[in-house]
Amino acid sequence: MPGVVERVLLAEPRGFCAGVEMAIKALTWMTRVFPPPVYCYHQIVHNASVVAVFEAAGVVFVDDVAAVPPGTPVMLSAHGSAPGVAEAAAPRASVVVDAVCPLVTKVHHEVRRMAAEGYQILYVGHAGHDEAVGTIAEAPGSVTLVDPQAGLGGFAPADPNRVALLAQTTLGHHEWEEVLHEASGRFANLWTARKSDLCYATTNRQAAVEAVAARAGVVLVVGSETSSNTRALVRVAQAAGAAAHRIDGPESIDPSWLAGVQLVGVTAGASAPEGSVSRVVGRLAPRDGVEVVGAGGEAEYFPPPPQLRSLLLALQSAVEGAFGACQPGRPGPLDDDRSWGAARALELLAAG
Ligand code: SF4
Repeated sequence: MPGVVERVLLAEPRGFCAGVEMAIKALTWMTRVFPPPVYCYHQIVHNASVVAVFEAAGVVFVDDVAAVPPGTPVMLSAHGSAPGVAEAAAPRASVVVDAVCPLVTKVHHEVRRMAAEGYQILYVGHAGHDEAVGTIAEAPGSVTLVDPQAGLGGFAPADPNRVALLAQTTLGHHEWEEVLHEASGRFANLWTARKSDLCYATTNRQAAVEAVAARAGVVLVVGSETSSNTRALVRVAQAAGAAAHRIDGPESIDPSWLAGVQLVGVTAGASAPEGSVSRVVGRLAPRDGVEVVGAGGEAEYFPPPPQLRSLLLALQSAVEGAFGACQPGRPGPLDDDRSWGAARALELLAAG
């Protein structure tokens, strides 16, 4: 296969978003502060290779906090958890750190607020996805899950003037726009977030893959099957006219996809490491090199979860106090958090 394609069109932005960066770094801190095992409720991010690195470092992923042995530390995943999960974890875990992405938290707030104001909420998302499950659990009696492929169906609210439309952050933008169009047509006073709930990372990666798909014969999207935003990138690329395939890495590429193709697009879901992308490009070995296509990089940054900041501050104070070296205002271990990234965290974990 090497050398069979002319050029790779590499989407920019692609791969890790600010929420994934924050979550991976936070769980890495947990593995450094606590002896194994550290527990994590749900996969920290939906990527098999990232999860495997953490498992090798002693992290145990569970789908039920009842499986966490009493007195052990727990992290809650980036996708956001139902309120009952944190409540159940608090009395049994030694420490609970919630690595939920702030942009998922924003949707949780919207659900609570609109439910409190008496709205019936249409939530566009994928049944069973961790983010959807956690968000709906904020007000289950007020929320109706809308499958983006099926639309509103026979939804009949008690008051058509009090209907809100919210969404999973990682939807394909066409899916969101179709449901928004249908709901706006049916409910004149529909409430929805001023900017849609689709997050910046979803929006930017889909715009970049559309630009790639407009030129490429085939688009390869690096990411796991469980990753909602990865699967959305595949659908968006297909809607833009390209053949598109999700791949875990270079080993997933079917050579028949590349037959007669000169330009191959490559992108990655928000939880896929750049190392996987590099291996894919390396396997393609384009004769004419790589062209970056899209709107460029992103500057978003999310700080570590507050519980982790408090924990590390307490540890720093304890150590400094023990050595009589406490200097108020001295920089702590998280003060230069912007200076390293999740890719570095994964390297450190892999090195042991
Ligand atoms: Fe947050 Fe969006 Fe990344 Fe999900 S994809 S973790 S909502 S920034």
